[in-house]
Amino acid sequence: MNEILKVENLTKAYDDLKVLDGVDLTVSKGEVVVIVGPSGCGKSTFLRCLNGLEDIQEGSVVFNDEVINPFKGSPAKVREKIGMVFQSYELFPHKTVLQNMILAPMKVRKAKKKDAEKEALALLDRVGLLSKKDSYPRQLSGGQKQRVAIVRALMMHPEVLLLDEITAALDPEMVREVLDVVINLAKEGRTMVIVTHELSFARAVADRMIFIDGGKIVEEGAPGEFFDDPKTDRLKKFLESFSYN
Ligand code: ADP
Ligand code: MG
Repeated sequence: MNEILKVENLTKAYDDLKVLDGVDLTVSKGEVVVIVGPSGCGKSTFLRCLNGLEDIQEGSVVFNDEVINPFKGSPAKVREKIGMVFQSYELFPHKTVLQNMILAPMKVRKAKKKDAEKEALALLDRVGLLSKKDSYPRQLSGGQKQRVAIVRALMMHPEVLLLDEITAALDPEMVREVLDVVINLAKEGRTMVIVTHELSFARAVADRMIFIDGGKIVEEGAPGEFFDDPKTDRLKKFLESFSYN
């Protein structure tokens, strides 16, 4: 197995509130890991610990052979390799789509403007948004903004992509267009750790499912088994709380 990300005994607290309590997870190159769990169980916190956006109390996060957490190095360098997309898009409102795309690669990766633009246009084309290159975020639908946010993350050439409930703020009719982009990334062999409440998408895209509850991984496994034959009562109850079919 070609391990790319190794989390051992990750423990994270906000003051007295212990959010993650000894989480172990190894992600292989090309693997798609999908995390589900009740609201507030620490999914976002976990993703943020993976790319050094949060400090941790115990344990470690190692990316290739580099210790990412406990954190010492340059945050920009880590985030170049571990990209993240959020529910809230985080696009710069006063920059056009194309400007949003090329900003970080030019600044962090020192890409030449011409090269960055060429790559950005190719990526926008791939997600059907070439015609929006000169639009501002406010001129886009939620689904379009999120597709821009995804390809903007790709501009950094990340080795791992972290996706945190990227369809949670979207109107239902826009969810599909965003999830289709993610499914295509999975087909290309991208390594991803995805938090989502879209269970049928999770089942389609995951190599491995993880259920977090009470700060721990309660159950994990291949999607077929995970959804059709959950072992723990907690996962059974969680799955039943969705009108999942
Ligand atoms: P999830 O993404 O699974 O809904 P979060 O990781 O956002 O859960 O939050 C886990 C817990 O940590 C929640 O109880 C939340 O209120 C708390 N929490 C998250 N971020 C902070 C913070 N910056 N400061 C204090 N508590 C936080
Ligand atoms: Mg969250």
